[in-house]
Parts: sequence; C-alpha cells; structure tokens
Amino acid sequence: MIGKGIAKGMVETARNLVGSYHESERMVTVEYPEQKIPAKESARNFPFLVYDGDDWQTGLRCVSCQICEKECPPQCIYIEKDTEKKPDFLGKPQFQPKIFDIDVSVCMGCQICVEVCPFESIRMDREFEYAGTDRFNDMLFTKENLAKSNSYYHQIHPTEATETDGIREDKRQAHLLKERAKAEKLAKAKKEAMEKKAGASSTD
Ligand code: SF4
Ligand code: SF4
Repeated sequence: MIGKGIAKGMVETARNLVGSYHESERMVTVEYPEQKIPAKESARNFPFLVYDGDDWQTGLRCVSCQICEKECPPQCIYIEKDTEKKPDFLGKPQFQPKIFDIDVSVCMGCQICVEVCPFESIRMDREFEYAGTDRFNDMLFTKENLAKSNSYYHQIHPTEATETDGIREDKRQAHLLKERAKAEKLAKAKKEAMEKKAGASSTD
C-alpha cells in the first residue's frame, strides 16, 4: 500500500515524542552542559600519562623511551629525558621524562602512542571539555596536566585497566623468577668455586 512506510514512520515519531516525556530510553537529546550522557567505557579522545601510588612525580610509569614520540603520526608529542635515573616498578633504573608535552590541538586521538608504548604508561582519556583562548599555550598539555592516577584509569576504563594491571603483574613475576634464577646460579657458582678451592688445598 502506498504511504504505508510513511504512516509507520509517523507512528514511531509520535511514540518517541510522547515517550520522551516519561521513558528515558526515548530521550534522544539532553540539555548539555547541565545534563550529560554517561560516557561509554570505550570512549576516548586524548592521551594521559598513568602514575602508580599517590604521587605523580615519583609514580609516573613513563621511562622516556620516546617510542610514542617517534610513532605519533602528526608529531604532537615532545619528550626530554631527565638527567638522573630512578628505579621503575621492577627496581630497574630508568629515566623519567623531564619534559613530556602533547599538543592536543594537533592530536587526532588515533591511540597509536598507546599501542606502541611498551611500559603501559600512556592511555586514552575520555575528558573532552577543553577550551582556551590561546591556541598555542592553552592546548599544550605538560606532564603536570597529563599525569593521572591508576585509580582514575580504573574509573574510566575498568576492563582495560584491570587487564593492564595483569600485564604488569606478569612482568613483575617474570622479573622475580629471572632474578631468583640469577641468584641461584651465582650461589651455585660460588659454592663450586669454594669446593674446588677446598679440594685443591687438601691435595697440597
Ligand atoms: S593519540 Fe595519536 S595523535 Fe594523539 S598523541 Fe597519541 S599518537 Fe599522537
Ligand atoms: S609514554 Fe611509553 S612509549 Fe612514550 S616515552 Fe613513555 S614509556 Fe615510552
């Protein structure tokens, strides 16, 4: 029948119009910024730097390897290494960044920096309400602005953050096993050397 599709469409429109007054799933618009639709877990826009513990200055995971800086397609990351090394979560001495800037006016949210980071240090944020009057300075985020805690990461991306914790725990366990094997090998070599020495002195 001609016009059947139009009639069905009009009925659906009427249902949405009436339903939008009392059914939340039919509310297709919100009065932003007073009202906000809760962000989905997969929402992402610009990167942030994850830190462990309470102090971002000592807890930053980033070790200034600069891989993200090299791989960022629009080259909007700028990193300078610190001059002194500090122990990372495995106790290995690593450089933290002295400068870590991201020009978010250039960043295209591609997440390549996250994909290439071997230290689970950079992740995608879902914060989007950024505005400024200075095109160059207001949108240039320094490490002070970029540093956010692992608890925040769990809050915005719980599934991904839990997986990341698992990866880091596996690394920690693998490191401990390696260190233990190294210590055992050293102790064995020492023991053998002492036995050899004792054997040699008894035959003198
Ligand atoms: S999200 Fe993409 S564009 Fe933005 S800093 Fe990371 S690699 Fe660069
Ligand atoms: S964020 Fe990751 S890839 Fe980038 S410098 Fe730090 S450790 Fe390296």
